[in-house]
Amino acid sequence: MKTIKKPFILDVETKQLPSILKPLVTEEYRVNQIIEWLYLKKASSFEQFTNIPKDIRGNLESSFVLRTFSNVKKDESILDGTIRYTFKTYDSHYIYAVYLPSDNKKTVCISTQIGCPISCKFCLSGKTKFFRNLSRGEILEQIMHIENDIGGRISGVLFMGMGEPMLNYQNVTSVINTIISKKEMNIGKRHITVSSMGIIPAIKNLANEMHGVRFALSLHATDDKQRKKIIPNNFDSKISDLLQACKYYLKKTNSKLTIEYVLLKDFNDTSSDAHRLARLLKTADLIQPSVQVNLIPYNETKNKEYKNTTQIALLTFKKILKLNGITVNIREAKGLDIGAACGQLGTNNLS
Ligand code: SAH
Repeated sequence: MKTIKKPFILDVETKQLPSILKPLVTEEYRVNQIIEWLYLKKASSFEQFTNIPKDIRGNLESSFVLRTFSNVKKDESILDGTIRYTFKTYDSHYIYAVYLPSDNKKTVCISTQIGCPISCKFCLSGKTKFFRNLSRGEILEQIMHIENDIGGRISGVLFMGMGEPMLNYQNVTSVINTIISKKEMNIGKRHITVSSMGIIPAIKNLANEMHGVRFALSLHATDDKQRKKIIPNNFDSKISDLLQACKYYLKKTNSKLTIEYVLLKDFNDTSSDAHRLARLLKTADLIQPSVQVNLIPYNETKNKEYKNTTQIALLTFKKILKLNGITVNIREAKGLDIGAACGQLGTNNLS
């Protein structure tokens, strides 16, 4: 396996930078200038650090790498301007990130793992063999690369690409710290969403440590047996316990919660499912303005086992939830023509 010969500077937590840089840079203001180049200005080479003396730049260059991805492939949707980026990692795996432009926002959806060990039955990323967690730097590099490429500040980050973010907890939370830090990327907490199939201790830790990023639970089912069929590696968490953990999250953070629900034809899209979901949310005391259910039409993948719901079932489902006082939204799929929509990010569709 190939390794990076020099340390990757984005892997280093900012609080550790002064000691790591010590042999090269001693003055605090210089360290701060470097932090600014790395995270705020998102320089892609040490040469661009123009307010740093040339000899220090040279030393940085010979001691660290600043980018690790190669062979970047870019696919742009003609439907909605979504861009899917394919990055080749230093050890020759492909990972994906998606740029989602809208009228007033520039959002990126990033990956946290190579492949995904959860293996949700309906998801293409889940069908992709799991290799390893992405490092802190590799997660950040996706955002940096996209910002450099589009030439404008990214305003929001979704941890909704390939992988289960809560299984790469340490790196993901370290990245969140850098994204929200005023001195580093300076993006507001409320513009960050972590999506997870739900690992109860991790949800609680996130609630305790990260006051305020948004949390999205990929629920997709209304009873435990049904959920196990599509999410076999669900750590045997009961839906009721997951919802309690979400309740804890809300209480602790004062943030917003999204319940994600992919509608699979004749599997979880019936009126009884909608009523059961409403009851579950009611029992967990989660029918409140800070909770929203996102109904996600299924983006069909090569997996023929599951089909998208029908329009009538989708609207009926929505109506039942609404009548129960639940805030509900139908998620519009983005980048369908380039395989960039939810669940379509798998390593085996690289052309
Ligand atoms: N592992 C995390 C984040 C990645 S998936 C999680 O489970 O939340 C992001 C969202 O897309 C999840 O809700 C996931 O269940 C959903 N998804 C996966 N495959 C999909 C597909 N083919 N169509 C629509 N949504 C899908």
